[in-house]
Amino acid sequence: MPSAKIYYDADANLDVLKDKVILFLGFGNQGAAQAQNLRDSGIPNEKIIVANRPDHYAEDAKSRGFNVDHDFANAAKTADVVFLLIPDQVQPRVFNNEVAPNLKDNAVIVVASGYNVFYKLLKFKPSQDVVMVAPRMIGSSVRSLYEKGKGFPCFVSVEQDGTGKALESALALSRAIGATKAGAIASSAREETAMDLFAEQALWPNIIMLFREAFSVLKEAGCSDEALCYEMWMSKEPAEIFERAAEEGFIQQLKHHSTVSQYGQLNGALALDGSAAREHFKHILNNQVGIRAYVDDDLADPRNPQVLNGKFCQEFSKIEDDLEKEGDANPLNVLYTKSEASELGQAEKRVRARLAGLL
Ligand code: NDP
Repeated sequence: MPSAKIYYDADANLDVLKDKVILFLGFGNQGAAQAQNLRDSGIPNEKIIVANRPDHYAEDAKSRGFNVDHDFANAAKTADVVFLLIPDQVQPRVFNNEVAPNLKDNAVIVVASGYNVFYKLLKFKPSQDVVMVAPRMIGSSVRSLYEKGKGFPCFVSVEQDGTGKALESALALSRAIGATKAGAIASSAREETAMDLFAEQALWPNIIMLFREAFSVLKEAGCSDEALCYEMWMSKEPAEIFERAAEEGFIQQLKHHSTVSQYGQLNGALALDGSAAREHFKHILNNQVGIRAYVDDDLADPRNPQVLNGKFCQEFSKIEDDLEKEGDANPLNVLYTKSEASELGQAEKRVRARLAGLL
């Protein structure tokens, strides 16, 4: 694989956005941050519309001086650019039913996540541009880094070039929200979806499982709940390790640990045979996520098939409506209840109750 291209401010021309009406669909984590950054980059307030149902998000946008339209269909009619910043699971319903039928034929649609584009859940006209500008940060950091004059990591791609100028628009919009300041990495909805879902469905489930099992083994060996919670995560040591890994290097950060620790960690990791984990990871990527042979294939090869609608996407589509329900009718609540029933979950609850006020 060649190295990815990185785009900086100098690659983007904000003039491309002159006189364009820019619609933010949603004013949540990303919507509030990106709309404010874009306005502070010089896009006139009268050219920005926030579409939101009448509630506290809409009130927040109004209190910050934005023009708010509660009618998504009406707002879509005048927009040249639409930032799709509502939760991924509601995007197909809201965009396809209310926004898409009213959008201009040459509109630019901006997604902050590849999911719905990769799985082809959104309806675009071939004449429209579809671009991804996907910050790798939570919204509050997107805003605070911009305010400090710093950039933030972001992926950018053109998914459909209806006008022939989609890249120009993608880069100008990336610059306007502050994403090219530190360099925006050329990516794709496919790559972003693969990495995101892989982390969510393969890597982090294993990390959660390892902590859960480690907790039980050490508890069985006589360690107290209090000591374990602090030793394993409440001291914030793991957070510090990852911060140092980002700043100094995944392996090099080990040099901050004691010699006993360095020896144990490096020797222990090298002694572990990762082949079972590798097979498990490939299985999740190829079947559950639905991206076949991603690990070994050349992404640029057009013959490389994309297996759309992986098992996860199909199953998740079936429960989307239930995720807005209360109590046990919401499958996410059921997963929380089951997970918190683990030894680790129960112990932490006790420790937190006991130490309330000190944490
Ligand atoms: P949020 O959960 O913060 O979105 C909340 C916004 O969506 C509010 O304006 C809310 O308004 C609106 N909304 C929620 N449900 C509906 C609905 N059914 N109909 C209409 N509007 C609705 O989203 P995020 O900012 O977290 O995510 C937006 C996009 O950004 C996603 O594609 C996500 O993957 C991506 N992203 C998110 C990151 C993050 O840190 N959160 C990081 C990078 C990318 P109301 O409920 O008032 O109608």
